[in-house]
Amino acid sequence: MFKADLRAIRFTLYDHLKVQQLFELDAFSHLSREECDAIIDQGLRFATEVTGPLNAPGDRAGCGLADGRVTTPPGFPEAWRRLFELGLMSFTMPVKAGGFGGPRAIGVVLAELQSGANTAFQMYPGLTHGAADLLETFGSPLDHERFLAPMLAGRFAGTMCLTEPHAGSDVGATRTRARHLEGDVYAIQGTKIFISSGDHDLTENIVHMVLARIEGAPPGTKGLSLFIVPKRWVEEDGRLGEPNDVTTVSIEHKLGIRASATATLAFGDGGRCRGILVGGRPHEGMRQMFRMMNGARLAVGVQGIAVASAAYLNALAYARERLQGSSVRHFKDPNAPRVPIIEHADVRRLLLEMKAKVEGMRTLAVKLALHADLAAALQATDEGRAAYHEGQADLLTPIVKAYCADQAFRIAELAIQVYGGAGYVEDHPVEQYLRDAKIFSIYEGTNHIQALDLVARKLQSRGGANLASFLSEIGEFVERHRARPGLAAEVGALGEAAGALQRAGGALIEFFTSGRLEQVTLVASPFLEVMAEVTLAHLLLDAAVVAEAGRAAAEEEHHQEEVDFYRGKVMAAKFFVNFVLPGVHAKLAAIVGADRSALDIPDAGFSTAR
Ligand SMILES: Cc1cc2nc3c(=O)[nH]c(=O)nc-3n(C[C@H](O)[C@H](O)[C@H](O)COP(=O)(O)OP(=O)(O)OC[C@H]3O[C@@H](n4cnc5c(N)ncnc54)[C@H](O)[C@@H]3O)c2cc1C
Repeated sequence: MFKADLRAIRFTLYDHLKVQQLFELDAFSHLSREECDAIIDQGLRFATEVTGPLNAPGDRAGCGLADGRVTTPPGFPEAWRRLFELGLMSFTMPVKAGGFGGPRAIGVVLAELQSGANTAFQMYPGLTHGAADLLETFGSPLDHERFLAPMLAGRFAGTMCLTEPHAGSDVGATRTRARHLEGDVYAIQGTKIFISSGDHDLTENIVHMVLARIEGAPPGTKGLSLFIVPKRWVEEDGRLGEPNDVTTVSIEHKLGIRASATATLAFGDGGRCRGILVGGRPHEGMRQMFRMMNGARLAVGVQGIAVASAAYLNALAYARERLQGSSVRHFKDPNAPRVPIIEHADVRRLLLEMKAKVEGMRTLAVKLALHADLAAALQATDEGRAAYHEGQADLLTPIVKAYCADQAFRIAELAIQVYGGAGYVEDHPVEQYLRDAKIFSIYEGTNHIQALDLVARKLQSRGGANLASFLSEIGEFVERHRARPGLAAEVGALGEAAGALQRAGGALIEFFTSGRLEQVTLVASPFLEVMAEVTLAHLLLDAAVVAEAGRAAAEEEHHQEEVDFYRGKVMAAKFFVNFVLPGVHAKLAAIVGADRSALDIPDAGFSTAR
């Protein structure tokens, strides 16, 4: 059953990160905290009452393909219709495009609620939102009328089509071709695989955003262009035309997100597939697609947080009810009363690891989105601060995507462990969470591709200024709080871990400058983990400082539930620093140690088995 913790979410949004600062800025002054809270409440109701109950049945039913048409599980078309009636999909779209113009920081929370309730269902509106945002940014006014408006109304859905049989991580190997016909219209021919929402029965039409190479364009990513390829052609006056020669060849039978149709699509098998060049600009495809990919990378991180949170809250509820064993304090007494498993130290350890990571990751994702909101809002008035916020959003994107994806799987696994055997079977939702979570580390650029993006691009962008600001914020926090009663040891540990991160960064620079690029790629993933865990420790301790103040006020008011809530925040931070953060020193040792065994082992040395 879907569960969410609105108290924890509101703490992160308003008490800790002060998202309400946005409503003071012109870009968001048309909204208030009350309105955003009402939308969050509406999103939670929709998730709990509409899509949540479809999660397990949708997983069992999966999608079907018959006579070239894909069907989604029962209830999905009705849920889609209701989602668009509520307008939840357009919350962060600009007002001029027909949206609410809401902050992405709130959008992250809305997406978390939807993905937590039903990850597979949320794929359909999620991709539609990403494609709509891409069109809003780069499309012409005519594209907006023909495609964007029906997408925001829920009549058309969207996809992103990059992957091909020979072009997975290596997008530059794309073979799909585009031949000029007239104006911005091209003939498209090629096969795309693994396309999420590639075909379904939720909408009248599907707008595929397709990367293809115009005849004569250079090889690699520089030669790619982006095309709007509708499943059914759309006339300039908006009328639906003929089918556009896009064939659904097959759909995948897969480990998780089974209710999300993952399709192989053939474009132009009959030579009649037409695509419209986005913005009329050839060879700009990768730059344009990066807009959708960056949004999707944050969205995948949020999927991870969503599943992790739902897994944690279900495991917590189970641990409060399941009676097993007696307290270790009475281990010699066979007649001692049976206790709920939440009383066992090891179960508490598992639960607190889940809580700390879920809440830390949520804070990280909201913070990233807040940086993006501030960058957009300050663009016109304060270029310097806008550049700072944009740089931080950029730096944190691969970390959110990769770390939250990995940890979603880990947390779902811990949730199963809390349930014991009951978690391994279908009677409880956690086995589905584990299966659903695995894809997060694979799509939208595998987690290793994120790590390469971090070490090869993001650390160095703006001359290293983004990283320098990031580290100096942690340094200032450590200086300010190193003597804080109750947290001094943990703040000191954060300072040491940040030092480890800097040394790991120094090792990377040394590998780069000495031309040891293989060594860089070998340690990129552990480096990303070190940076993620230092970031989470900082955010959790910062939240603990805020919570300490809240606790003092709650104690004065004798509000015990609030006192416990704030104590939970402090304990989560202390636990993370004492149980998880020490791991960064082991990873640092591996990074600077520059061991070459993984590089030098002969291929045949892995095994002689064939
Ligand atoms: C359920 C599902 C939904 C998907 N949805 C979409 C979608 O909507 N649109 C879309 O376009 N694609 C989609 N994909 C495709 C997905 O993005 C790719 O699977 C992913 O990018 C990895 O590509 P690949 O599967 O070809 O693996 P490969 O690229 O073959 O990678 C295999 C392994 O090798 C590693 N590797 C590859 N290259 C390198 C390198 N240069 N250096 C180091 N390691 C490397 C990878 O990290 C990985 O561990 C989806 C996939 C699935 C399974």
